[in-house]
Amino acid sequence: MRILLVEDNAKLASLVRQGLSEEGFAVDGFETLEAAHEALASFTYDLVLLDLGLPDGEGLDLVREVRRRGASTPVLIITARGGLDDRIIGLDTGADDYLIKPFAIAELAARCRALLRRPGASLGTVLTAANLAVDTAAREVRVGGEHISMPPRELGVLEHLMRHVGKVVPKTTLEETLYAHDCDVTPNALEAAVSRLRRRLAASGVAAAVHTAHGIGYILVPSPERPGARG
Ligand code: CA
Repeated sequence: MRILLVEDNAKLASLVRQGLSEEGFAVDGFETLEAAHEALASFTYDLVLLDLGLPDGEGLDLVREVRRRGASTPVLIITARGGLDDRIIGLDTGADDYLIKPFAIAELAARCRALLRRPGASLGTVLTAANLAVDTAAREVRVGGEHISMPPRELGVLEHLMRHVGKVVPKTTLEETLYAHDCDVTPNALEAAVSRLRRRLAASGVAAAVHTAHGIGYILVPSPERPGARG
């Protein structure tokens, strides 16, 4: 899931990016309204995290702009302004939730997951294919009901493949989702993640495999379960 973070406090922005990355989110960080507008025009985001006091204006203007365009992208305001009036104005403007600084990254991550679970949000709760189930909110993977561990990057790839079972997911989509776009992403980084994911799925007895669509992307294909074949 891809998050747009608009926060001009570099230290806080860095903490948020790191914390949410560890939770499996891809975070693009910007410090100004102008940069945030450009990012929103160029990329699709699943959630916006927004500071209110920004160097070139008020964060609420961005919320108004997003809502005026009819976008239902959830917006979570993160601000030191905890007054009741500020919170009411923020929510009335079209923000979905409000978190007062300072906050724990764990709470921020939980609020993000809660917003992404809402009806209409792009995140479903449990994706299934063959004997594989991914709980996108709890970030849990189960094979035949048994929990298996999976690092965030592999989970990110798997989640996208499971949203489009039997269909090719373009490499660029997987790369964009996995990494913030100011990171250096090489084709090999994605290939390496897919390769690790394949080994993990095979070792866990998953009745589905990730195939390569050469030059295009990857596809998750369920396979008939073979009696007696257990990993
Ligand atoms: Ca600020």
